[in-house]
Amino acid sequence: MATEAEGARSARLFFALWLPAGVARSLHSVADGVVGRCGGRLLNQDSFHLTLAFLGDVPAPRQPELLELASGFELPSVAIRLDKLDYWKHNQILWAGCREPEPVLLALAATLQEKLLAVDFLTETRPLLPHVSLVRKLLHPDVLPDLDPFEWSADELVLARSCRSGRGAEYEAMARWPLA
Ligand code: ATP
Ligand code: MG
Repeated sequence: MATEAEGARSARLFFALWLPAGVARSLHSVADGVVGRCGGRLLNQDSFHLTLAFLGDVPAPRQPELLELASGFELPSVAIRLDKLDYWKHNQILWAGCREPEPVLLALAATLQEKLLAVDFLTETRPLLPHVSLVRKLLHPDVLPDLDPFEWSADELVLARSCRSGRGAEYEAMARWPLA
């Protein structure tokens, strides 16, 4: 078990694809319309991302190892198409996702998870359900609007750190690598 001192130096980390600013702005505006009608807490558009692998708390001594490992990943860029809005009742989140996730996107997440699992950075692997959280604490959604598809090529992998604060989780990019 980690001591308190070790726990204090750990960081809550995840690999993700960040949305291009223009896509984030447009999605934010769609989500703002839902919040205007139904309530909920609209997330900051700068934080919009699609998680590929969640590592949880990584102790400080293992963080340089993780950065070095990820530098050697050489993963491919992927086409992303967000074309639906959906809602999870269990955690009251409104999210944008894919009607039919691109196999290359699912393969990217699976490859990343396998690489991390092989060196004990992951405790579990799960099939990815690609989603971008937009609104939290949405209690009473009405009919969700159709989403005009947003498409782009994700060409950067981000290792992000999640910091819990009174305002909810905030994310900070710890490192970025190009996807070829
Ligand atoms: P909060 O948990 O404070 O409500 P959050 O879920 O955005 O906010 P984190 O829990 O730190 O913040 O998660 C960071 C990212 O990793 C988010 O995209 C979240 O959906 C994802 N994530 C968190 N836990 C898991 C998990 N067990 N498996 C897969 N992805 C996860
Ligand atoms: Mg969470």
